[in-house]
Amino acid sequence: MKQNHNKRSHAWRLFLLQVSLVVAIFAVGLYIGVFQRDKTLVRRHILADARTQIDGIVLTRLWNSMYGGVYVEKRQGVESNPFLTNPDVATRDGRVFTLRNPAIMTREISLLRPDNGHFAFNLTSLRPLNPNNRTDDFEQAALLRFETGESEIYAEETRDDRTFFRYMIPLVTTAECLQCHATQGYAEGDIRGGISLTMDITGFRQAMTSNHILGMCLIAAATAVVLACFYYFSIRLMRQLKQAQQTLADMAVTDELTGLANRRRFFERLEEEMDRSLRYGSDLSLIMLDIDHFKRVNDTFGHPVGDTVLAEVARLLTANLRTSDFVARYGGEEFAVLIPGMDANEAARAAEKLRVVMEVNDLFMDGPSIKVTVSAGVASLKSLPAARRTRDQLIRSADKALYRAKREGRNRVCVHRPEAAIQPSLI
Ligand code: GH3
Ligand code: MG
Ligand code: MG
Repeated sequence: MKQNHNKRSHAWRLFLLQVSLVVAIFAVGLYIGVFQRDKTLVRRHILADARTQIDGIVLTRLWNSMYGGVYVEKRQGVESNPFLTNPDVATRDGRVFTLRNPAIMTREISLLRPDNGHFAFNLTSLRPLNPNNRTDDFEQAALLRFETGESEIYAEETRDDRTFFRYMIPLVTTAECLQCHATQGYAEGDIRGGISLTMDITGFRQAMTSNHILGMCLIAAATAVVLACFYYFSIRLMRQLKQAQQTLADMAVTDELTGLANRRRFFERLEEEMDRSLRYGSDLSLIMLDIDHFKRVNDTFGHPVGDTVLAEVARLLTANLRTSDFVARYGGEEFAVLIPGMDANEAARAAEKLRVVMEVNDLFMDGPSIKVTVSAGVASLKSLPAARRTRDQLIRSADKALYRAKREGRNRVCVHRPEAAIQPSLI
């Protein structure tokens, strides 16, 4: 029984562990899935942002090159482009204009970037005319990859605790470019360099990290709540199941009408008590007790009243026995009482006490008050020959004594001993 219980609780613990594992794996999977998706979406968003920025620069350059460069007035501080031949023109009214081709325009716009701006761009080339357009490591690698046909390159970089998104597209040589770059040996269609964009995405990344920590905490909390609910309801269900099992087990050994142990439980208990008596050499007495002329009660008052009488007799029996004694409904209007440790004579006294209780007590039903008497047969284990100390012999002997009590006029106690029929007056 205990082994079964241990097995069950081990299986139950294993089940809880398996469920916890499945829920935890699901939660971790969910977190990784959401995290990856989030990362992809943010990366796409940053890339789209970079492309938009570069498109603006490319369109401005295109506009400039559509006119073969544009002239700006050469006010104070405006320098001529040293890489162009004859970049300046003077108007009749004496004002001087200087040519701004796409390259210098791009460079000048890139320098307008405020210090705290979140992006910067740069024109670069492996063979720059302007030494300011030298490449850094990312740009150099990107330019080499453009040679192999790639149309855009991007990567993330961390410098001084800040994270940057680097993006670059190739700069393809057009007819306009050759005005300055023909001397370098470029032909139309050649990749001459690239436009590189650097975006500071530190804030973005920090927000993402906080988001992920928050997400992780929420998923962990949700998992804990789910598991706690699961444990709570499982334990409640287990308790209810245990209770139901106990109720079923009790029902299987209880007589419904009287609430006493039933015949099945009587036999179990008899086996237990006999084992104990035989092991320790103590005596064990059995009283078989039968209501006299019970049929008359039924016939006179009806079956329902008969049932109530049975329940009332059971109550009186229980009330007048010790807690160590055991009483069961043996069947019909017959009861069996087991008295461990008592010999037949002592048990006969106990039976006589029960008989007197029945005799003197009126049983008050809803209507009439009824009086019933009982007859009892007593036998004890040690009153049997050693070879016949069996369960069946004990019952048979008590039964025989009971029949004798009936035969001798009812409302009396007989002991399984020819000479030991105890008369009420003797006690
Ligand atoms: P005796 O003194 O010889 O024992 O006579 P008796 O009438 O008590 O015995 P008998 O065996 O003739 O009848 C027993 C009766 O008990 C018959 C049966 O209807 C009644 N009985 C058995 N079980 C129940 C029960 O659960 N409820 C009711 N109301 N009657 C029961
Ligand atoms: Mg009877
Ligand atoms: Mg009977």
